[in-house]
Amino acid sequence: MSETIYDVIIIGGGPAGLTAGLYTSRAKLKTLLLERMIMGGQVMTTTKVENYPGFPGGIDGPELMMKFQEHCQEFGLEVVTGEAEGLVDNGDYKSLTVDGKEIKTRSVIITTGAEPSKLGIDGEASLVGRGVSYCATCDGAFFRDVEVAIIGGGDTAAEEALFLTRFASKVYLIHRRDELRATKILQDRIASNEKIEVLWDTVVEKANGDNSGLTSVTLKNLKSGESSELPLAGMFIAIGVTPKAHFLAEILELDADGYILTDAECRTSMPGVFAAGDVRKKILKQIATAVGDGAVAAIMAEKYLDGFVE
Ligand SMILES: Cc1cc2nc3c(=O)[nH]c(=O)nc-3n(C[C@H](O)[C@H](O)[C@H](O)COP(=O)(O)OP(=O)(O)OC[C@H]3O[C@@H](n4cnc5c(N)ncnc54)[C@H](O)[C@@H]3O)c2cc1C
Repeated sequence: MSETIYDVIIIGGGPAGLTAGLYTSRAKLKTLLLERMIMGGQVMTTTKVENYPGFPGGIDGPELMMKFQEHCQEFGLEVVTGEAEGLVDNGDYKSLTVDGKEIKTRSVIITTGAEPSKLGIDGEASLVGRGVSYCATCDGAFFRDVEVAIIGGGDTAAEEALFLTRFASKVYLIHRRDELRATKILQDRIASNEKIEVLWDTVVEKANGDNSGLTSVTLKNLKSGESSELPLAGMFIAIGVTPKAHFLAEILELDADGYILTDAECRTSMPGVFAAGDVRKKILKQIATAVGDGAVAAIMAEKYLDGFVE
């Protein structure tokens, strides 16, 4: 493997990486896709995707990603299990360190995605997809006329709380401090929205459920020390997202939150290296936008290899 020089190495087997792989392998570029865990990325953890076009009625996340993989196989995309740990630009080619070994390539597409931060409480993991969610844009519409909570105090939590009022009968915004970090305009909208009740100085200690899914959460007030139980059908956790670009911190330009900075054509600060999907700084992190990015990055890699762009 070490003597081969690939045209393109794609790091990450989620929707962005698989789309990039579909385009580059169909364009007959010698492509290798690396995935450190299971193929499919974050979509593998969601039971139903209702907002990806082409699937009226929705589709299971793993089933959708299986279709992506089958489609790539039609064009012979080479896939290996491995974790990328480093990247060096040698001029004519780049060296990628994968599980301690060097692989050579003329261009790289980074599609390593991101991971929502977890509360780390009892019941959280077992109720994901059954009442516990990390994405109101994705799952909010499943919670019509029921009571839900959003955990967090930043802009994302505030925006998602407001979004959830379109569906839920009541939205609790649960925050461990006595003021929100969200911008003033969002704070004002939260305060004036009759469907939202903010529970200040409060943390969630446990997610409780039965066979049907989440039924309640156990809360603790940090000032009084009192515990209580709040019946809920849904809990949305918005306490941060970690982009998977830490191994590139000294190599590419990242923003303060660790997202890879690119231009609109998915070009990073290193020539011949492109970033697509949730790992790059952008406004909307969804499957549809990851797919769009993957296609753009693939075409840009092709243009770079042909000498049409720097
Ligand atoms: C619970 C949940 C539900 C969601 N529901 C929806 C929905 O209904 N609709 C929607 O549009 N979006 C949804 N999303 C968002 C959507 O999943 C993401 O926007 C999308 O998966 C981003 O794709 P990606 O390819 O950029 O990254 P990811 O899906 O994160 O894939 C990145 C891949 O890269 C791999 N990787 C990371 N680092 C390395 C490395 N160093 N070396 C090798 N491999 C590496 C990871 O293991 C992962 O497989 C949901 C997200 C979550 C968490």
